Amino acid sequence: MEFIDLGTQYEHISENIKSRIHAVLQHGAYIMGPEVAELESALESYVGVKHCITCANGTDALQLALMALNIGPGDAVFTTPFTFFATAEAISVLGATPVFVDIDESTYNLSPENLEDAIRNFDVSTGLTPKAVIAVNLFGLPADYEKIEPICEKYGLKLIEDAAQGFGGEINGRKACGFGDVSTTSFFPAKPLGCYGDGGALFTNDDKLAEVLRSLRVHGKGSDKYDNVRIGMNSRLDTIQAAILLEKLSIFSREVDQRNEVACRYLSGLPDQFVKPYIPEGFRSSWAQFTLMLDSTEARETLASSLKLNDIPSAVYYPISLHQQTAYKGKCVVHSAAMSEKVASRVLSLPMSPYLKKSDQEAVIQCLSSISETV
Ligand SMILES: *Cc1c(COP(=O)(O)O)cnc(C)c1O
Repeated sequence: MEFIDLGTQYEHISENIKSRIHAVLQHGAYIMGPEVAELESALESYVGVKHCITCANGTDALQLALMALNIGPGDAVFTTPFTFFATAEAISVLGATPVFVDIDESTYNLSPENLEDAIRNFDVSTGLTPKAVIAVNLFGLPADYEKIEPICEKYGLKLIEDAAQGFGGEINGRKACGFGDVSTTSFFPAKPLGCYGDGGALFTNDDKLAEVLRSLRVHGKGSDKYDNVRIGMNSRLDTIQAAILLEKLSIFSREVDQRNEVACRYLSGLPDQFVKPYIPEGFRSSWAQFTLMLDSTEARETLASSLKLNDIPSAVYYPISLHQQTAYKGKCVVHSAAMSEKVASRVLSLPMSPYLKKSDQEAVIQCLSSISETV
């Protein structure tokens, strides 16, 4: 059994993928070929947002979003300490400073209450100016944008939705990648919508921001590529990856349903002694990960090794909160992070994919049930 099974999906779609790739090899427009524009409009329709701008990866997407919002040295950006490193890295690489704000204890996403407290009680002695918030859709579950959006509006902060893990999620019918001023996602192979290499995208309803983003991803181009009007990046999505994504997008809705079926079976079959993922009313997760919380780090280690003995892979996302990373020593502001530290020391993610076989899932549930009887 694999932790994330990409092979079975490929078996289902290999013929179509091959002909999509073949078409690109035939027309030869490897950079910004027709599939890129076709994918962008397909993604706009899927999410229900006016503009999609594809780019080279999810980290660049975050950096491009911050650049388009003019975030730089002296600026503070509020974000969660319980996420992949890239979320904060994009802030720091531009010379701005992340302000870490603790997560909600049941969803593991940025807590709106802590966020408002961090903004109200911002420490002016830091010399920083609060400019923006990056909320993350951790493990596929959208952050609480119905509460976070009004907070950002109230205090005049820009909001970026980091939906690298969350493409396919929803809140009351509103799709992930449609929240905030600008939203980002990643097409890294293991994400809910993955390509066969690196890829990413930005989404916004703001015409002006979209125009700036399209310029920034190609060296800050103006009217043509040898007219440069701003400092940008080289961050385009390869045509071949766009072609692959077009094929994968055509089965994506069904795959999100399948992920939800797998999650439902875990939720009903696993013993209640483990803290299971919590999906608030009206929310839908795209289940990038299915993550349990244990009583202690030792309990997690015991569980992971018992699973391993039964050939069941598991993984820890994330073992170290960002404010505790070596790279962030003296380079960040911490408003609150106690819950993040606790969760980081206790979580364990189980195998999850749309194609997880029922028999394999039964084996995981069986193994966890027998362990729960012994501890
Ligand atoms: C994967 C991920 C990213 C970065 O995406 P890449 O395409 O790997 O650069 C950013 N934020 C989060 C939360 C992620 O999980």
